[in-house]
Amino acid sequence: MHLSKTNADVVIIGGGVIGCSIAYFLAKNHGIRAIILERDAVASAASGSAAGELAALGRRQYSDDFSKFILAGIQMHGDLYEEIVQISGIDYLLSDIEQVRPAFTSVEVSELKEQMVWQNSFLGLEAEWLKTTDLRSDYPWISHNVLGGVVTLEKQLESYAFCIALLQAGETLGVRLKTANVVGVASEGNVVTGVKISDGGMVGTNCVVLANGPWASIGAEWFGHAIPMIPLKGQIVHTATASDLDLPRYSIFHNSAYVLPKPGGDLLLGTTDEDVGFNNTPTEDAKNLIMEAALRLAPSLLDAEVRYITACLRAYSSDGLPILGKIPGWEGSYFATGHGHKGITLALITGNAIADHVANGESQIDLKNFALTRFQNLQENIT
Ligand SMILES: Cc1cc2nc3c(=O)[nH]c(=O)nc-3n(C[C@H](O)[C@H](O)[C@H](O)COP(=O)(O)OP(=O)(O)OC[C@H]3O[C@@H](n4cnc5c(N)ncnc54)[C@H](O)[C@@H]3O)c2cc1C
Repeated sequence: MHLSKTNADVVIIGGGVIGCSIAYFLAKNHGIRAIILERDAVASAASGSAAGELAALGRRQYSDDFSKFILAGIQMHGDLYEEIVQISGIDYLLSDIEQVRPAFTSVEVSELKEQMVWQNSFLGLEAEWLKTTDLRSDYPWISHNVLGGVVTLEKQLESYAFCIALLQAGETLGVRLKTANVVGVASEGNVVTGVKISDGGMVGTNCVVLANGPWASIGAEWFGHAIPMIPLKGQIVHTATASDLDLPRYSIFHNSAYVLPKPGGDLLLGTTDEDVGFNNTPTEDAKNLIMEAALRLAPSLLDAEVRYITACLRAYSSDGLPILGKIPGWEGSYFATGHGHKGITLALITGNAIADHVANGESQIDLKNFALTRFQNLQENIT
């Protein structure tokens, strides 16, 4: 690709985990020093508040292809942890944690057992079914009302520290960060010539990456596209346990409810999936719902004290998959959004692949399932 030398070879809009990861891989693997334009603080949106769990399963079982992509993303976390910590000097505490998925009804028992077979045979994980008595003795925080559950070994990290580590590692290699609210793009034909800033300024470039989370749906309009993606609000309750109560050493997940002890010492209770537009204000209702659901999973939480609640927005596409790759109809501009519940998990694999596309027009990691053009019913309105 041709990289102009105006103000920046590559402009990345959004200083979340996806933007910081792309910038890091561009610098490290291709020697391209991108500029990140972030209107607020780095990691101030979902990337700084995410639970930081890295697991192949989500609320539901994903397609085989997407599950493999997620597993490859988790593998990269293991492979690159030492390198990123070493370059950045920031330890974001990547660690293993046992995850328990309990069943409360016989239908859930069948569903979980079926899922477990798939996890073992297709994903090659070591998922194990534990009956009620074993669950109760090995995982004493779990409710006595369960009918058994699946246990797997997963990974987790501290999300805010991870995002800052990626930024710091990138900056060490020449990445620049500028506080700027991008409000549009200037173009000639099908090539961008710069991005417009709200103060009337402009950053010249021929290459733009839209990595601004749910706000990429607004950015897509600058390129004449409407993307099927909503902001999906999620809230998390941060608690402190009574001083005589040790934190559990495992997490408990059931549908959208979870209890997750963090390596940094917090105990997180999640979460909600709310379709309420770009509203990211924490609410009392959500806190009560989350506490209720968490208590059902782990009655010991009755003594937990609520410290604070966070609310932020996931970029959620209509089929639940990320939107990655070339912006149709444009030379040198890219989408990197739509990571839904999995943006921390997928940050490294996305960053690596998008950086390869920006530098070489292709990547070893296949992104065709994530192209915007998959939404056949979208009539593209290319400027
Ligand atoms: C409650 C909750 C829990 C989660 N838990 C997990 C988890 O356990 N594991 C996991 O893998 N994922 C999790 N996620 C998902 C994950 O947080 C997101 O997928 C990920 O953070 C998305 O990163 P991003 O960089 O795309 O977007 P964001 O973090 O939203 O960052 C986008 C950035 O772009 C900036 N921006 C927007 N518009 C502009 C503009 N015009 N100009 C300049 N800057 C702009 C914003 O200020 C923001 O900083 C969770 C999400 C939520 C809400």
